[in-house]
Amino acid sequence: MSDSLNHKDKLTIAVVGSGPSGFYATEALLKNFPNTSVNIIEKLPVPFGLVRFGVAPDHPKLKQVIMVYNRIAENPNVNFFGNVELDKDITIEELQRTHHAVILCYGARSDRDLNIPGTSLKGYHSAREFVAWYNGDPEAQHHKFDFSHKNAVIIGQGNVAADVCRILTKSVDELKKTDITTQAIEQLSESKIRNIHIIGRRGPAQAKFSSKEIRELGELSNCSNFIEQQSYVIDDIDKNQLSAPAFADIAKCVSIFKDFGYKKDSKKQHSIEYKFLLSPIKICGDSKIESITFMRNRLTDNRKAEPTGDTITIDCGLCFSSIGYRGQAINNIPFDDVKGTIINDKGRVINKQGTVITGLYTSGWIKRGPSGIIGTNRADSVETIETLVKDIETLKQKTIEENAFINILKAKKCRYISYEDWKKIDDIEIKNGSIIGKSREKITDIDKMLSIANK
Ligand SMILES: Cc1cc2nc3c(=O)[nH]c(=O)nc-3n(C[C@H](O)[C@H](O)[C@H](O)COP(=O)(O)OP(=O)(O)OC[C@H]3O[C@@H](n4cnc5c(N)ncnc54)[C@H](O)[C@@H]3O)c2cc1C
Repeated sequence: MSDSLNHKDKLTIAVVGSGPSGFYATEALLKNFPNTSVNIIEKLPVPFGLVRFGVAPDHPKLKQVIMVYNRIAENPNVNFFGNVELDKDITIEELQRTHHAVILCYGARSDRDLNIPGTSLKGYHSAREFVAWYNGDPEAQHHKFDFSHKNAVIIGQGNVAADVCRILTKSVDELKKTDITTQAIEQLSESKIRNIHIIGRRGPAQAKFSSKEIRELGELSNCSNFIEQQSYVIDDIDKNQLSAPAFADIAKCVSIFKDFGYKKDSKKQHSIEYKFLLSPIKICGDSKIESITFMRNRLTDNRKAEPTGDTITIDCGLCFSSIGYRGQAINNIPFDDVKGTIINDKGRVINKQGTVITGLYTSGWIKRGPSGIIGTNRADSVETIETLVKDIETLKQKTIEENAFINILKAKKCRYISYEDWKKIDDIEIKNGSIIGKSREKITDIDKMLSIANK
């Protein structure tokens, strides 16, 4: 669709969050209405969300998508406001008052709960905390991980768990050229962890890994991958499902598991053991984790896990729960507490009674939940903007004072970071990295980021 608005009608739209969904929403907006002024509001001084703080440091190719985001940000109609947090520096009402529409793309920054006793013990963490820590997220640098025990347990069998496994088993030599923080490399180089147990609630045919990630674990140079024989169950229902085209990638995973076999290769320094059909019931220890007790499960015909009554206990000193990220509610934005998402219909935010909130939209993980790859957010944002386009005549009715948004930030003395400011931080990170042979040395301290931006 071409720009149907004349200059007088120029829209000003706020996009909250500068992860993939925020950038793709901006791209789709500008494609539909090239004259639209887009204010991207980001709580951190640095952009890109989980592309910077989630995607694994040893997968640099995936971060090349940043070049696409740079092109979007460099459009003269796009203004980046880093270091501005919705609900802290600015309220949703202020954003609504100063924009024709607000698109909420603020991702999922919390964890699904394991809901068992013992999660307050030292040594228990969510995979999200660990991932954010080694990726240099300023909000995760206070976490302390105890790598002194030889056994670690990861609860959950998805791609985030696979990332965690690689980071725990790769050598310093393999990580030192990536953008993992130097602090993480130093601590991981002292790690005594040798055996990782990676646990799934259901069977091998229900694991959530992609075959690419599992194959990569199988290729780790100094790590033996093997499966627990007792829990490796593929029954006739599984076999039937796995033969369907929709299950082709899972079938590949299952075949890779089979190739791993049941035996640990003790010549290798590390091992990853895949255990299936186990649900954690208790994390045990005095002040820190000593072991975790699991219930053995069987699968019902509709592939639900049900307890058998048999239990197993695994000794460990560190446990990462990797059962999913979770979105957080923000004041005065309708929220589905069960799904952890903003209530919406094809991106249009609606309240609990189903009434549309005019001018409020959402996209990405906070819209649909924490699933899908970077590219999934493009289609998701396109859907949201298609919805917005349908509402355009209503949105145009609103009168917005020029500079109203910036004036609020100035009145609140909010030090916002422009894209040029971010580029200064970016340059220094790349320069600091190159001195020590890394692609980038991330700055992990917000004050330091701000002082670079102020220069
Ligand atoms: C560990 C991990 C590894 C992954 N690896 C891959 C991979 O290898 N390949 C792949 O394709 N996908 C990968 N993904 C998935 C991909 O990262 C997500 O699909 C994508 O980042 C979701 O985009 P989003 O914009 O919805 O959320 P996010 O990327 O989380 O972006 C949300 C943004 O909103 C900001 N924000 C939050 N709250 C506020 C607020 N109150 N005010 C202002 N701003 C706010 C955040 O700081 C953040 O910048 C991975 C995900 C994780 C967790």
